[in-house]
Amino acid sequence: MNEKCSSCGLQFDREPGYFSGAMYISYAMAVPIAAAVTILAGLALPSLSFEACVGVAFVVLTPLSPLLFRYSRIFWIHFDRNVDP
Ligand SMILES: [Zn+2]
Repeated sequence: MNEKCSSCGLQFDREPGYFSGAMYISYAMAVPIAAAVTILAGLALPSLSFEACVGVAFVVLTPLSPLLFRYSRIFWIHFDRNVDP
């Protein structure tokens, strides 16, 4: 990750551990996706066990993790800048 924005010079990492809050946002983004995929897999393939449906959700969620990582940090930066400019 870049230290500063190349356009406006915003320093992304304001302090050590700054992006710890982004983990909560990432979790809040991932859980609804995993739940939705699990439910949809169970509805689409009723013969699958619950554990297999969770496995399907894991397979779907894994390639999305780079997107979740980036967007959770973006949401965190916007949240933090609004709360503590
Ligand atoms: Zn910028």
